[in-house]
Amino acid sequence: MSARTMARLHRAETPHTDWCARDHRCGVAEHRSADIVAADIGGRAWITRVRVDDREYAEIRARIPLHSNESVARWQLATALEIMRELVATVAARLAPLPRRAERPAIDRRPA
Ligand SMILES: [Zn+2]
Repeated sequence: MSARTMARLHRAETPHTDWCARDHRCGVAEHRSADIVAADIGGRAWITRVRVDDREYAEIRARIPLHSNESVARWQLATALEIMRELVATVAARLAPLPRRAERPAIDRRPA
């Protein structure tokens, strides 16, 4: 058994969060919200809030219809992946963590 597998087996249990589904979607140290679904968009997309140990992230899944022609389907897959790259980069930049309180000098500054 690899060291990585052993680390997973010994992961410490974490409590449910306020937002997790508190059902089969949760694991010992992973908590998952109910899915938020976007439909009527020519496909379907789901976003799920996930907490693993002390880290939280958004998990995004999508079901996108593909053309029956193999060449067109491959082009659609490549295009979808490129758009997903752009999406993740854009979201990561826009949702970058706010600076810490000590790095925000306007907070606690009294008006002149
Ligand atoms: Zn949970």
